[in-house]
Amino acid sequence: MSSKFVVIGGGAAGIAAARRLVDSGADVLLLEASGRIGGRAHSVRVGREALDLGCSWLHSADRNPWTRIALAEGFQIERTPAGWREQWHDLGFARADQDAFHRAYEQFSERAKAYANGPDRPLSDFIQPDNPWRPLIDAISGYANGANLGAVSLHDWAAYENAAGDDNWRLVEGYGTLIAAYGKRLPVRLDSPVSMIDHRGPRMRLVTPQGLVEADRVIVAVPTPIIADGDLKFDPPIDAKRDAAAALPLGLADKIFLGIRGDDYPRNAHLIGNPRVACTASYQIGYLGRPVVEAFFGGDCAEALEREGDLGAADFAIGELARLLGNDWRLRLQPLARTRWRAERFIRGSYSHARIGQAPQRGVLAAPHDDRIFFAGEACSASDFSTAHGAYETGIVAAEEALAADRRPRIVASMPLMTAPSTTSADAAIATTQSDPEPQSEAMPARAAKPRRPFLRRLFGWIWKGALVFVIVSVLWVGLYRFINPPFTFTMMGDVLHGQLITKQWMSIDRMDPNMPRAAIAGEDARFCLHDGFDFSALRQAYKRNQKGGRIRGGSTISQQTAKNVFLIQGGGYVRKGFEAWFTFLIEHLWGKRRIMEVYLNVAETGIGTYGANAGSIRYFGHDASRMSPTEAGRIAAVLPLPKKRAAIDPRGFVRRHGNALSRYVNVVRGSGLDSCVR
Ligand SMILES: Cc1cc2nc3c(=O)[nH]c(=O)nc-3n(C[C@H](O)[C@H](O)[C@H](O)COP(=O)(O)OP(=O)(O)OC[C@H]3O[C@@H](n4cnc5c(N)ncnc54)[C@H](O)[C@@H]3O)c2cc1C
Repeated sequence: MSSKFVVIGGGAAGIAAARRLVDSGADVLLLEASGRIGGRAHSVRVGREALDLGCSWLHSADRNPWTRIALAEGFQIERTPAGWREQWHDLGFARADQDAFHRAYEQFSERAKAYANGPDRPLSDFIQPDNPWRPLIDAISGYANGANLGAVSLHDWAAYENAAGDDNWRLVEGYGTLIAAYGKRLPVRLDSPVSMIDHRGPRMRLVTPQGLVEADRVIVAVPTPIIADGDLKFDPPIDAKRDAAAALPLGLADKIFLGIRGDDYPRNAHLIGNPRVACTASYQIGYLGRPVVEAFFGGDCAEALEREGDLGAADFAIGELARLLGNDWRLRLQPLARTRWRAERFIRGSYSHARIGQAPQRGVLAAPHDDRIFFAGEACSASDFSTAHGAYETGIVAAEEALAADRRPRIVASMPLMTAPSTTSADAAIATTQSDPEPQSEAMPARAAKPRRPFLRRLFGWIWKGALVFVIVSVLWVGLYRFINPPFTFTMMGDVLHGQLITKQWMSIDRMDPNMPRAAIAGEDARFCLHDGFDFSALRQAYKRNQKGGRIRGGSTISQQTAKNVFLIQGGGYVRKGFEAWFTFLIEHLWGKRRIMEVYLNVAETGIGTYGANAGSIRYFGHDASRMSPTEAGRIAAVLPLPKKRAAIDPRGFVRRHGNALSRYVNVVRGSGLDSCVR
């Protein structure tokens, strides 16, 4: 069996990747180890109710791509707030205690964020062991991270917190139902766990129980334990990927669903079982008016309960509820379903968290290998990890990278074809004529010279005229954009043609917080104010790296990136680089540095379909770019796309992507005057 693109793993990420590839007309096969698609997105029907065993909340719902898909597919979205901060009727949790807890949580969170730019540490460092609310904060860490505070990396946690929005919605038909529906028409082979990717030859060979599958490009979208534990191996081994996966283990969160007998039960009520202990559940009672309780456990508590039998775990939940609601509830509650995500053979946990000091491994895991093996899955997301929308976005990125990589070799491959000996009948006829000894000896020079001369002359004439027109048009075009903001770029057009909604909101550099250009300088081009468009030292370094082989890297300055973003297409190899140099020269002379920075910060992509720092700031932080903290500016600078985006896989590049280091450099840029030309 053979396919051009193979996606391994049919969860949210794999489905998103396969859909994007199929939509672009590619030949794709999705290999899924289990007997269904969806992975950790799994809705089941119990009676009339759709229960979400895995993901259920459309987190950051206003920017969550699944929200858009749900609306397009006609799913019903429930916007009732989650009520996580509420304790229904203050049961077992007096109002004053709730207030004290919220204060303690705020302090913990603020303290942690204040240290986010320093060295990485466990979250437990930010709350005293004897703080009376430490157990509940530990329980919440279990729900959110799948692990207790001591195991969660500050840097990783802060990346998520800074990016997350406030809206959390649900789907009446189930999140799992939506994700499975989105993958419904994909070419899928179920029950096909891939155990090995042999990438030694020109085509890759994937080992499955049903035999070998050959592929040109592979997207690996499996949970991290599958790579870390060696269930999916690479031949030759890719140690960096195995180490990265091991540094991003899956924490654990589990659910128990209980049916409620009788009609008189609270609707949309939230309860914490026992706010004084770390092993307690968060309960959603009568959500959507259904006679169902969803009990949610996390971290060590979930690990312990997963080892219990079905009845033991249900007993625990019923006991906590009976203590709050009254003993008669013991008879009113009956177990409907429970999860054991740690025991799921092809998943082995709930969602990833970084080990201490290991947050950068998300970028290492996400980076393509050899332009042939691409990686997706929630753990690859720099800031939306542990969610279904984070998984989706990594799938889209991987698919686009795979498509771009697939286009590159075709251009290269066509060049030798133009000069190589051909066996077409037309060429054979020419060969026969030329092998005729008579015309070759005398008539050939004359015959060859006559027709060629006028053609060459004409050719030079066309080239000359074309060049002249190009120079005039390009000078006028660049001159125009000195005064008029570019309304659209080719990249935006590409997005629109692919059906992607785009968001952009121009903000002049006068209004934009100066931290933003500083972060861009720190991340992209420290010598921006010192060079005249080209940084030859950066180019030399890139050249040296490229000499060592592997992926070709850039060395592009902000001016070059602006020229490319505004006037040219992405990709296009050395031809595009040539045009880019010309436009860089023009903008440096016709615009000046400040205008270059202004345009750059307004047209660069800051997220899928989002263009410009201002739109990015609104998307990620809920406010415009007129006031940005160094951390926020660093984070935006970290996601600015580059022509060789995955050059950001080395530590420096990765730090850029995360933005934490950039935020520290913002002050360095200001202090050392590296931003003098944009002030
Ligand atoms: C209890 C729980 C609650 C959650 N709540 C939310 C929530 O409310 N909101 C939210 O956004 N997210 C939530 N999540 C997280 C969300 O479900 C996941 O982040 C997301 O679904 C992960 O998608 P993925 O594609 O990265 O991985 P998965 O969904 O794990 O998909 C990977 C797929 O790869 C397959 N596979 C594994 N090995 C192989 C192999 N060798 N060959 C082929 N296939 C293989 C697996 O069978 C699986 O189908 C929750 C998760 C859990 C467990």
